Amino acid sequence: MSDHRIEQLRVHRINIPGKAVHSHGIGDVAGIHTVILELITDTGLTGWGEAATWPAFTGTAEAALAALHVYLRPHIVGADPVQVEPLMKTAETAVVGHPEAKAALEMALLDLAGKISGLSVSELVGGRMREDMGLSFSVANPDFGKDLEDVAEMWADGVRIFKIKTGFRGHDFDLMRLERLRADYGAEADLRIDYNQGLTAFDAVRHIRDLEAFRPTFVEQPVKMHERETLAHIAHVIDTPIMADESVFGVREALYGVQIRMADIFSLKVFKAGGIRRALEVAAIARAAGIEVYGGCMFETGLAHAAGAHLMAALPELRLDCEFYMSRYYAAEDILTAPFPVEAGRVHVPKGPGLGVEVDPAQLAKYAVEPALG
Ligand SMILES: [Mg+2]
Repeated sequence: MSDHRIEQLRVHRINIPGKAVHSHGIGDVAGIHTVILELITDTGLTGWGEAATWPAFTGTAEAALAALHVYLRPHIVGADPVQVEPLMKTAETAVVGHPEAKAALEMALLDLAGKISGLSVSELVGGRMREDMGLSFSVANPDFGKDLEDVAEMWADGVRIFKIKTGFRGHDFDLMRLERLRADYGAEADLRIDYNQGLTAFDAVRHIRDLEAFRPTFVEQPVKMHERETLAHIAHVIDTPIMADESVFGVREALYGVQIRMADIFSLKVFKAGGIRRALEVAAIARAAGIEVYGGCMFETGLAHAAGAHLMAALPELRLDCEFYMSRYYAAEDILTAPFPVEAGRVHVPKGPGLGVEVDPAQLAKYAVEPALG
């Protein structure tokens, strides 16, 4: 028990434009529509959390806002912020689903617990196995010429990992882009593929076999999220490692995924699992089965990237790095007081107590969709 109590809970819904439209097998996204949670204690500390959603993938920002403002508020105001598991267990009982809202709550609680204890979030959940990790950028602009310009700029910055979003404009377009990137950047480029559910089971195996000529590191989520047995079949017959993203949200899907050997890799996301500690549970299931993990993200600000970086820093092993690129390379602006730390193609895990980043209230006001609640 600590001497701190949560006195105020404020929820901000914001919309930050993206620098470009990004296309995926499940549709286009033009910006970051997200929810920021602010918990203020009676001792004057502020904990920050984010509920990043993607309507075609998970839930909506409006639903996350309602979950926090209406359904979780009564359980949080007056509570001791260091009691993270008791509060998260209460949240799970109070409202079913809504993993993004629960992730925001856990993030803000851990941020406060870190500020109270002087420890970073990665230390609070187990310790820092690494201080930095490689950054992947998603090549997803329907205007490939613009993507080539962006890739050239990032290559000069030291970025070597590129995830090509496929399955939104036909197989020939996908083959052309992979051929061009492999020809321009050679073996030094770490190219990955993400279909975002864009293939049919009928086409999946032969289309993936065509792309294997360009030596992708992995192929992510070729078929629909609920087609888990089809995904297992693809992983069985294709040599290139297959990653499950939309098909694995939390521990239940991870357990089933292990039982049917659904994939070779699980994409870990705090917003799918419902928090950093639940994502670590998913990672533990994967590790026990010899399945790799990868640091995925939603359409999110540098605040959520910080939470993701602390999650990935705490993993016992990490070979496939992360994709926390939005703050630096996608959002028109961020909400943090200092840039999210990316240097020479690597994400640096924020230092300092809690999440190690601070939100700029002026940026929240600038991108607010409506007045803050609470
Ligand atoms: Mg994905």
